[in-house]
Amino acid sequence: MEHPENSNEYKGLTVNDGVEHPASVNPYMTHRKKRRIMSVDEYVDGILKGNVTILSQAVTLIESTNPDHQIIAQEVIEKCLPHSGNSVRIGISGVPGAGKSTSIDVFGLHVLQEKGGKLAVLAIDPSSERSKGSILGDKTRMEKLSQHPDAFIRPSPSAGSLGGVARKTRETIVLCEAAGYDKIFVETVGVGQSETAVHSMVDFFLLIQLAGTGDELQGIKRGIMEMADAIIINKADGSNIEKAKLAATQFKNALHLFPAPESGWLPRVMTYSGFYNIGVKPIWDMIFEYIDFVKHNGYFYHNRNEQARYWMYETINEHLHDSFYHNPIIESMMKQNEDNVLQGKVTSFAAARNLLDIYWKEMKNK
Ligand code: GDP
Repeated sequence: MEHPENSNEYKGLTVNDGVEHPASVNPYMTHRKKRRIMSVDEYVDGILKGNVTILSQAVTLIESTNPDHQIIAQEVIEKCLPHSGNSVRIGISGVPGAGKSTSIDVFGLHVLQEKGGKLAVLAIDPSSERSKGSILGDKTRMEKLSQHPDAFIRPSPSAGSLGGVARKTRETIVLCEAAGYDKIFVETVGVGQSETAVHSMVDFFLLIQLAGTGDELQGIKRGIMEMADAIIINKADGSNIEKAKLAATQFKNALHLFPAPESGWLPRVMTYSGFYNIGVKPIWDMIFEYIDFVKHNGYFYHNRNEQARYWMYETINEHLHDSFYHNPIIESMMKQNEDNVLQGKVTSFAAARNLLDIYWKEMKNK
């Protein structure tokens, strides 16, 4: 059977319409039963035993904005940290419609079958609440994998600043690894800065592309291509095969123009079909070849150290940002200062300085 997207009218690159979600609150429910918050040790114990329910509850604490939950979550993460790290982390990116869910379903089953172990699929999608569209990590999108006993699929933390959403995913990786998940996929929509965040927490960055638009190289940002350890061109099936091969050649040529990556690995370009499960094994053989290669030359560990450093600074930035913008006095004065700038009464710099001075005075008196 020919896939409908192989018809001539289909141009290859589509952006799917969002699906409006029904309200998540049941209007008939007058009070919600509160789940008991367990002790830090109970969470850690459950996670180390691989208890999926407790793992999910701990991830919910990470995602919670309640400061009490955050305190417990941070302690749980700290205690899980010595048990984490023993995994292969793969970032998977591609625009909506590129075939991420179809591919991850097939990739996940392939990897579990070939290598055994356990797989966690996480996501970073800072737009999820706003666009109502992409529901990355939603179980229904990965039908087969979501039924696999060794797969844990978790949607993106709900919308917030990219830094915040990404940090939560980074912390969730720690818990998943402590729970014995030795393969981690982190999925993201390939449309912006979220790739940088994903790139900063994975060992291998896989970019899914499509052929058929004729201008595939123009639509994709140079920065994203530079991050890719491999570009894989999906939907190489039916009448699309030749177009996919042509696109692969174009990508290969383009990659030659980039400086050699620090890892010493030359990014590969391959074609495959996630829907028909064609060419999946060579992709994963290549990824595990990469892991061997960078473990051997030391880059694997160097990169993870660099990432740990990056996340230290990112977390400091995020907390400073939140502390400033959520300070009640600052919040109450923000609008007035903004108006003054817009009306030309003060310069942007003077207004910023004024707010920062007030903030620092506040902090001193605390
Ligand atoms: P995502 O938005 O990146 O998660 O993309 P999806 O996995 O939801 O796929 C978008 C559309 O592309 C769906 O209609 C899929 O059936 C189709 N699709 C995915 N992979 C393939 C493939 O290998 N070949 C063909 N012909 N279609 C595919």
